[in-house]
Amino acid sequence: MLLNPGTVAAPARPSRVHQDRTLAAMRNGSIPGARGRVRPLTCLGDAALAAPCREVTDFGPELAALVEDLFATMYAARGVGLAANQVGADLRVFVYDCPDDEDVRHLGHLVNPRLVTADGLLFRGPEGCLSLPGIEAGVERHDRAVVEGFTAAGEPVTVEGTGFFARCLQHECDHLDGRLYVDHLTGWRRRRVLGRAARAPWNRGG
Ligand SMILES: [Zn+2]
Repeated sequence: MLLNPGTVAAPARPSRVHQDRTLAAMRNGSIPGARGRVRPLTCLGDAALAAPCREVTDFGPELAALVEDLFATMYAARGVGLAANQVGADLRVFVYDCPDDEDVRHLGHLVNPRLVTADGLLFRGPEGCLSLPGIEAGVERHDRAVVEGFTAAGEPVTVEGTGFFARCLQHECDHLDGRLYVDHLTGWRRRRVLGRAARAPWNRGG
C-alpha cells in the first residue's frame, strides 16, 4: 500500500523528509529492513497477486529473512505496507509502517493474519498499491479493523487500526487472499484504473 503523493487533504501523512529519515534509519539498522534485500515487485497481471497465499508453518530463519526483505523493499519503494506475494513469495505475511489519521505511527509485521473485525463507517478514500505503480483510486474501506496473527517468532499478536491504518490492514489482508483494491471498484472507477494499468509502462500486456 502506498501513500498518495497527489493527495492534499491529508496533512497528517508523513512528508518526503520524514520518509528520507526512515530510509536513513533503516540503513543504520535501527529499524527493520536493514538486513533485508530489495526484491523486484510483482505488478497487476502477475499470477502471484491473484491467488490466495499459503499459511506459514515454518517459523524459522527463512521467514525472518522474508520479513526483512519485505521491509527493505517496502521502504525502497516508499510504501506503507507490503504483502509477500508482492515480491513473489507465496506465504501469508505482510509488513507495515503506516500512520493513522491521528499521525500515530504503526510499524510491524503479521504472519498468518486473519481480519477478525472490519467495522465503523465506510469511507471512500484514495488508495494506491505498489503493484499498480503510479495509479490511485477512491476505495471504500471500514474505518476500523482488527487483525489477529503471529509474529515471525510465532507469538500470537492482535493489531487494531483506525482511519488510514485500518485501510492499510484491510488492503494487505486482501493481498494475501489474492485480491487487489481494483476488485472493490465498480463502474467508471474500475474502468479508469484498468485503463490506466493497460497503458502503464510496467504492464506486460496481460
Ligand atoms: Zn497493495
